[in-house]
Amino acid sequence: MAMQIAQASKARLIEVFSAIQGEGLNVGTRQIFIRFALCDLRCHFCDSAHTWGVPEICKIEKTPGLRDFETHPNPVALPDLLEWVGRQNQPGLHDSISLTGGEPLLSAPFLGQFLPEVRSLTDLPIYLETGGHRPEQLLPILPYLDSIGMDIKLPSVSGENRWQVHQEFLHLCHDAQVEVFVKIIISSQTNTAELEQAGELVASVDASIPVFLQPVTPILGKESVVAPRPDRVLEWQSLMKRFVKQVRVVPQTHKMMNQL
Ligand code: SF4
Repeated sequence: MAMQIAQASKARLIEVFSAIQGEGLNVGTRQIFIRFALCDLRCHFCDSAHTWGVPEICKIEKTPGLRDFETHPNPVALPDLLEWVGRQNQPGLHDSISLTGGEPLLSAPFLGQFLPEVRSLTDLPIYLETGGHRPEQLLPILPYLDSIGMDIKLPSVSGENRWQVHQEFLHLCHDAQVEVFVKIIISSQTNTAELEQAGELVASVDASIPVFLQPVTPILGKESVVAPRPDRVLEWQSLMKRFVKQVRVVPQTHKMMNQL
């Protein structure tokens, strides 16, 4: 799908807020979330369809964790975003900054300007949450990232088929020696052969890269999104462990805790 990359000087945002990370390697840590607008994928299980376009306004939390949002028009200027992040950055509260979406790499030109500045402002590690399908946009901002959580989209579950770019993307992360983990959403629709292909893909880069199998969270009104049976999850974890060393099964814990 063709998608215009957002221009450098301003950001298209959904929201900025402080919350507990519910997924992957950073689960349970406190992060400042910067959720970018726009996504070029259309995963069947998407719980963030409101991020696919650019809303007229974005929501900015005034006090960390209080959900006392104020609204601002999109797009937002770089100094404004720095000010809002600085306001969130209370001493010792946050473990890192999470760049999420949507697909944050569609804002890569902006990130190239923003990340060095937010790093010197907060000194917090930067974590990127991405669909793992835009290596070209990742490359210029890699030096500013500390940690990356990338998806491998199984066609049977997501409807997306991105094997080649996923491999390229994972290679880039690994070669840059950035901490990286892979997240794979599994559901009742999961095709075992595709899971095996994902295991081979990760092992072809480095078998010690952690893999998270994330059982899909059912979505109200989407009957086709069904969580996998417990016996299948055990079977798929065993299967993946034939290829990679660390395979953890972790659902979206923030939803279990009723967190944003
Ligand atoms: S990549 Fe994320 S935001 Fe984009 S469609 Fe897939 S689940 Fe939704």
